[in-house]
Amino acid sequence: MAKAPVLTPRAEDFPRWYQELVNKAELAENGPVRGTMVIRPYGYAIWERMQSGMDVRIKETGAQNAYFPLLIPQSYMTKEAEHVEGFSPELAVVTHGGGKELEEPAVVRPTSETIINDYFSKWVQSYRDLPLLINQWANVVRWEMRPRLFLRTSEFLWQEGHTAHATHEDARNFAARIHHHVYADFMTEVLGIDVLPGRKTARERFAGALNTLTLEAMMGDGKALQMGTSHELGQNFARAFGTRYLSREGTREYVWQTSWGSTTRMVGAMVMAHGDDDGLRVPPRLAPVQVVVLAVKGEEPVLAKVHETAAGLRAAGLRVQVDDRTDTAFGRRAVDWELKGVPVRIEIGPRDLEDGGTATMVRRVPGSREQVRTDVLAGLLPGLLEEDQALLLRQSRERREGNTTDVRTIGEATEAAVAGGWARIPWSALGPEGEDKLAERSVTVRCLVAEDGSVPETDDAPGNVAVVARAY
Ligand code: AMP
Repeated sequence: MAKAPVLTPRAEDFPRWYQELVNKAELAENGPVRGTMVIRPYGYAIWERMQSGMDVRIKETGAQNAYFPLLIPQSYMTKEAEHVEGFSPELAVVTHGGGKELEEPAVVRPTSETIINDYFSKWVQSYRDLPLLINQWANVVRWEMRPRLFLRTSEFLWQEGHTAHATHEDARNFAARIHHHVYADFMTEVLGIDVLPGRKTARERFAGALNTLTLEAMMGDGKALQMGTSHELGQNFARAFGTRYLSREGTREYVWQTSWGSTTRMVGAMVMAHGDDDGLRVPPRLAPVQVVVLAVKGEEPVLAKVHETAAGLRAAGLRVQVDDRTDTAFGRRAVDWELKGVPVRIEIGPRDLEDGGTATMVRRVPGSREQVRTDVLAGLLPGLLEEDQALLLRQSRERREGNTTDVRTIGEATEAAVAGGWARIPWSALGPEGEDKLAERSVTVRCLVAEDGSVPETDDAPGNVAVVARAY
């Protein structure tokens, strides 16, 4: 008899599968205020691994971490015209404090360009103070109308980088460096997700930016997800906040700026890109637990062998957890680890103690199961985990390539996106009016890419291709 599925199959109802998986794998639950999220310990451990992987890459660029206040005077938000227009509908505003109406309401930060610029304008005096490279890890609030756990919540956790430079070129290079060497590198190398780098069209650009660089990924159902963005802000915020510096030549100039953000949305991306009908498949380089060693039975010699095996694997540098909760049925525990997507299960029972020690090794990514000698595991597993990491990236790439079609007309592009794939159409055949047409069917231009796959310098560069899809 086939076992009853733990999750609604993806092919039947992908959004439902996602929701069930996020709950059953104990990643997160809805908070009491609509759009908010409680991140459970396993979900938070995954986020912490994302933070640390991202943080080292950010620091390698020379950026330093700092912290700015959650509350921003409302008047700050109105200083940059496009910024206020873009963010107004999403703002949460504090009007009372300590039982009294505030003289000036404060907004809960939706992003921190405004308050950070207020301080940059004090910290930057001369060209010697530039570039100024700041990152903060924080929570932000954007009142989202259609929330979904991790992917789009009203409060989310993120890093936001904010930099000031002496020249346009330096700022542009820095935004590109974050895009390629921090975001794309982390997402490909650690998340195992094949991301498409590109440029946003004017319609999709960050409110107040000259240019937005994005990374787009294809989820298991063929929809797109914006994984992270890096913005060239030009001098827009510098002018609004008077952030100027004394140049080498003795003139006072406005700084050129960037900002860039990546969020807890990446946890949702990991679920939707790699998960299958049995649960998560967490990429080994990301996984907070890479190997779980399970005691099939609670007998003393089995438990001793389980702990000894786990210690050997830890000594080999792996992240290991022991599961000796033998008062819970073994089958249930196995299904639970399957759901949680731990890359490798090592199962040890009484029969494994004979002939010097064996175990059943179950690999989550390829879905294989075999008998192995426990004394070879520490030598074997690091290599196998790297194979699994590479397989996830390959599957992600193959999915994108296999579900992207080249088209010539807006009708064909819409059809391909509605059917659950991506379409590539010459930007010259689409343009901003075509973009409006796509929007009527909830299809958007995810990004523009150049003919050779690089990121174009302008929207209208000859040969630009628009990648269009439905998105989360
Ligand atoms: P932005 O500051 O608007 O460029 O946002 C930075 C990044 O945050 C985007 O690239 C998205 O990946 C992510 N993001 C935007 N809105 C949300 C949200 N409501 N929940 C989670 N992540 C978000």
